[in-house]
Amino acid sequence: MSNKYNKDEQRLVDYAKESVIKYNKERKSNGGIDTIYAFVLSDSGKIYDGACLESTISASVCAERTAIASMFTKETYSSKIICVVTFDPVPKKQGYSSTPCGLCRHVIWEYGNPKTTVICGQYIQKNSGWEFVPEMEKYSIEDLYPKPYKAVKWD
Ligand SMILES: [Zn+2]
Repeated sequence: MSNKYNKDEQRLVDYAKESVIKYNKERKSNGGIDTIYAFVLSDSGKIYDGACLESTISASVCAERTAIASMFTKETYSSKIICVVTFDPVPKKQGYSSTPCGLCRHVIWEYGNPKTTVICGQYIQKNSGWEFVPEMEKYSIEDLYPKPYKAVKWD
């Protein structure tokens, strides 16, 4: 795990922080509460946004996968994910940021490469706005999903 970002990762982290503030202001003005966001950088250089889709009937979809689905509204299934940034709302600083769930790890692996990076952060709602926890964790998808499921055809 390293906290040093390359140019692409830094661009995605900066974009993600601006977007979390922008979306939270919009959500709050509409009566919404903070949510989990994810942002994906594809090998085209474009960034796609996602938010957690919450459902009352166990049909929720994580922010990571909604961001990846957004990528496929404009790109093909041969596009590759270079980096994913997630931001989780927390009441106070946690010991570490939440990492993607198993389903999201698989999808990131499937549409990324072993070195695709996943950067996870936390934010806290304050009276004056939103504050980002300075520490963010950076992983490769290979770190998070070292033994991926691979469909094997039966003979
Ligand atoms: Zn997930």
